[in-house]
Amino acid sequence: MTAQIIDGNALSRQLRTEVAKRAAALKARGVTPGLAVILVGDNPASQVYVRNKVKACEDNGLHSVLEKYEATMSEAELLARVEALNNDPSIHGILVQLPLPAHIDAQKVIEAISPAKDVDGFHIASAGALMTGMPGFQPCTPYGCMKMLDSIGYDLRGKHAVVIGRSNIVGKPMALMLLSRSATVTICHSATTDLKAQTLQADVIVAAVGKRNVLTADMVKSGAVVIDVGMNRNDEGKLCGDVDFDGVKEVAGYITPVPGGVGPMTITMLLVNTIESAERAAA
Ligand code: NAP
Repeated sequence: MTAQIIDGNALSRQLRTEVAKRAAALKARGVTPGLAVILVGDNPASQVYVRNKVKACEDNGLHSVLEKYEATMSEAELLARVEALNNDPSIHGILVQLPLPAHIDAQKVIEAISPAKDVDGFHIASAGALMTGMPGFQPCTPYGCMKMLDSIGYDLRGKHAVVIGRSNIVGKPMALMLLSRSATVTICHSATTDLKAQTLQADVIVAAVGKRNVLTADMVKSGAVVIDVGMNRNDEGKLCGDVDFDGVKEVAGYITPVPGGVGPMTITMLLVNTIESAERAAA
């Protein structure tokens, strides 16, 4: 079997067209959806992520404000900026790019963002809403993975999903989203003793580890859906995921590539959350 590719670029284009239409409808009512992105320091990867997010806003009719600060910015100064943006009616989403310099308590900064503008979905109120099935913003990466499953019409009810990774931004919310669709969910992590025994039982596998080749063909049941969240570099310096793509695609039913899979979907869901926030504010 050769797996069908779930194309994150194509799905993103489709979803971003819908975002642009919703942005135009809001503009016609005098509201321009606005996203504020705060970058502290000069982490090269963060600079690329932030640039991509700002460009995605501009390309789809959203207004974006990029605030760049020196790595020496104090926690109090950053908290004051967040507070000002909370009170700015032209801003519907606030994103503080992580990681922050070590002297700033990232969780404290995230908790300072108004939950109504928490388009990254990292605030404890957003996490609580996800856990209890209440409305709130969902973290963009797992939200994008769910959209990828929806794009192939996959019915999760009664299926066994294995999530590899338990971070607060990917693994745990991913597991909750799969659970909310009535999948039976197993969460694996670095202390899981026999990962292969778990993944071999899975109808759906989401790999969110940050290590190359964590998932190889011998660990995948025939026909399984494999979603690769990982972003790593191979020996040639090229972007690759956690999954041995060439091997696993011969066993899986569906697979997401890296690049061109979950990555573009993450930014797309940020746009979706920001539009959603602007629509709520304008209602
Ligand atoms: P993280 O916070 O470092 O979490 C990694 C998780 O993997 C941890 O829960 C860890 O377990 C687990 N783990 C480590 N080694 C393992 C092993 N050998 N077997 C099973 N589990 C193992 O990373 P993250 O923020 O969730 O991100 C994960 C990956 O996704 C990274 O490559 C990141 O760059 C990528 N990512 C991509 C996007 C995107 O848009 N495509 C967005 C976010 C993240 P413990 O908890 O036990 O340590």
